[in-house]
Amino acid sequence: MKNKHIMTGLLLLGLTLVAGFFSGREFLSLRRNDEIFPGSGLTARKRLSDYFPALKDTAGDTEVFIFDSAAQGGNLLILGGTHPNEPAGFMTAILLAETIRAARGKAVIIPWANASGFTHSDPQEGSPQRFFIETPTGRRWFRLGSRVTNPVHQWPDPTIYTNPMGQKLAGIEARNLNRAYPGKATGNLTEKVAFAIMALIRKEGIDLGIDLHESAPEYPVINAIVFHENASELAAIAQMELQAEGFEFRLEASPPNLRGLTHREWGDAAGIKAVLLETPNASHGRLKGRPTVSLIVDGKDKYYERASRLGRLFVPYGPEGIPLKLRVARHLAGVQAILASLHELEPDETIELANIPSPAEVQSKGIGLFLHPALK
Ligand SMILES: [Zn+2]
Repeated sequence: MKNKHIMTGLLLLGLTLVAGFFSGREFLSLRRNDEIFPGSGLTARKRLSDYFPALKDTAGDTEVFIFDSAAQGGNLLILGGTHPNEPAGFMTAILLAETIRAARGKAVIIPWANASGFTHSDPQEGSPQRFFIETPTGRRWFRLGSRVTNPVHQWPDPTIYTNPMGQKLAGIEARNLNRAYPGKATGNLTEKVAFAIMALIRKEGIDLGIDLHESAPEYPVINAIVFHENASELAAIAQMELQAEGFEFRLEASPPNLRGLTHREWGDAAGIKAVLLETPNASHGRLKGRPTVSLIVDGKDKYYERASRLGRLFVPYGPEGIPLKLRVARHLAGVQAILASLHELEPDETIELANIPSPAEVQSKGIGLFLHPALK
């Protein structure tokens, strides 16, 4: 009898070890970086630590892609992956890095702004760790991370987090890159990343910064251009342009009392025109059903459909869903409209990017046709 209990115990222990081995291996695989294949327009490939050496060899360091035309013009910063669970943001940044060439001015692209956030996923959410995009030669896989920095890299959270601008927030926000600006050289890892991005803005002489996000369909700031007051005219003209192209965007002024965000501190601390774009992503909303790769890529969810019928959402959500290709198309259209608007308002700061995939084609044919094809 006693032996039987020991055997059961050993068997359970063995099964736990096997399960732990496989789930541990899966979890650790998130630390392998995705690869980007920049086009021939790339003029320099740097790392964030080149602007703030204390970041070197930390989980906060990340890749920086520079496309410099050498022709007089303005300087643009595009950020994806401030929130690694908002795929349209970083996929747009990756798509741009793999396609564009600067014809005037300079573009600096950081696709994985919070690199640490890509190395884990949110506990108890059941989110897939990766999703794929079909390319002509096969699938390309991309990591999906968490909204915040990995606690393995920054721990513990304070009970109340006071950010570099003195705003008091819930403890977990200590790991939210979009609350950490203008950063702190001696701060936590997330604040150091924000500090490095501010250093890059100054070193590269950035005039315009665009931070690419997504939000849940039940969140009021959605399909939106959030703008710093430095960029109010810029955003208003861009909105009209977008409307003419059939993309509805609402304008949201950056609230002056909400501190630590890109659209506030980039403008206040570095004086640049700062905007943030939001598209609707069901896969990180609270009302979603099962989070799957298909929900991320196809964006169909019957619970969101139902919520939309009940009038609970801030965007229309039909049975066709809101696919990633549409969300990326919206971001691309947003970037183009903002650049056109900049050209109109500040001709000296014109930034001309060639080869940006057309939003209409991305929307109809998908992202995979424009990305670097999957390696065999
Ligand atoms: Zn976000």
